[in-house]
Amino acid sequence: MITKVYFDNAATTPVHKDVIAVITESLSNIYGNPSSSHFSGRDAKAQLEESRRKIAKILSCKPSEIFFTSCGTESNNAILSNAVNHLGVTKLLTTAIEHPSVFNTCQIHAHNTKIEYLELNKDGSVNIENLEKSLQASSEKCLVSVMHANNEMGALNDIEKIAKIAKENNAYVHSDMVQTMGHMPISFEKIPLDFAAASAHKFHGPKGVGFMYIRQPIAIQPFITGGSQERGNRSGTENLASIAGMAHALEIATENLEKDMNYLNGLKLHMREKLKSNFPTIEFLSDKDHSLCTVLSVIFPKEFDKEMLLFQLDMKGIACSGGSACSSGANKGSHVLAQFDIPEDRKVVRFSFSKFNNIDEIDFAVDKIGELLQESSSR
Ligand code: PLP
Repeated sequence: MITKVYFDNAATTPVHKDVIAVITESLSNIYGNPSSSHFSGRDAKAQLEESRRKIAKILSCKPSEIFFTSCGTESNNAILSNAVNHLGVTKLLTTAIEHPSVFNTCQIHAHNTKIEYLELNKDGSVNIENLEKSLQASSEKCLVSVMHANNEMGALNDIEKIAKIAKENNAYVHSDMVQTMGHMPISFEKIPLDFAAASAHKFHGPKGVGFMYIRQPIAIQPFITGGSQERGNRSGTENLASIAGMAHALEIATENLEKDMNYLNGLKLHMREKLKSNFPTIEFLSDKDHSLCTVLSVIFPKEFDKEMLLFQLDMKGIACSGGSACSSGANKGSHVLAQFDIPEDRKVVRFSFSKFNNIDEIDFAVDKIGELLQESSSR
């Protein structure tokens, strides 16, 4: 019998059991420092470089274009800071719905760069015509920084088109791919990005490890300074076991990608339709046809208790989130939701799925939501 469901996979995903096995094996047996030149260091270095090769192969890029970091946040910070401080970028073209690791970092650079927030379509995607016009009208050296998919509502960008337009206009282009890495096909051969950020814990890997993609021959300065790890581009002894786990997690996540995406889209559609038929005034922030398969953002009708809803869902055994989990506890309204016309009395809840969820769990959650409505109307 189902008593609890985990629908907060956009915040983090459970670690795949085979990934745990790889991490355990690495922690147990490969204890050398990859920078040491003796046999033990060489074993560690071999696993490090093998992990890099695996990731590069999946993403159709060179291993030397992958740099390991501590998380998606560090990757985004390092890329934006390099663009402004070392690559001559004087204008950032971004969106008002980026994750705080991009949004707040852009704000930090506002004293020495111009920031332009790109116009969004109704579904939360970037208006590409407007982007092209903005780039054509800019005389500055630009960096376009647009997320592949938004973490709060699942809005999807045509990142291939965006990257092509940026390159045609001589701009650098970065994408925060934290929500899509391992969930959508990504090839850096096809998508002419200069930079991308990813994080293992969003695709059933461990927390506290990520990577950045930096297209050659772009040369960066280390954001974290110290030793010469990562060919001098990111100091600090590598988190080897987690890096090996991340590479394996990406292999698993991409081996049946199309099948998994169809499965997830099916789950998401089922929840959407069931919610709509049970609660006809419910609305959705995630676009029906064009949004990330893992994210369903729901605008609850005013009959639900806006302030208590997340707590009530938790009490009913449903783990989900309102706005971005990354900033929960900060008690600040979501800067993402602020961009959309959401009535004051409505609560927006994000249900986010993984391939380890199933239809029965969705039915359980919708039934529990029905109980909540009954309980609130009998009060
Ligand atoms: N970018 C996006 C779109 C995210 O959703 C998140 C985390 O939720 C991050 C960046 C930050 O990743 P990390 O948790 O690895 O720092």
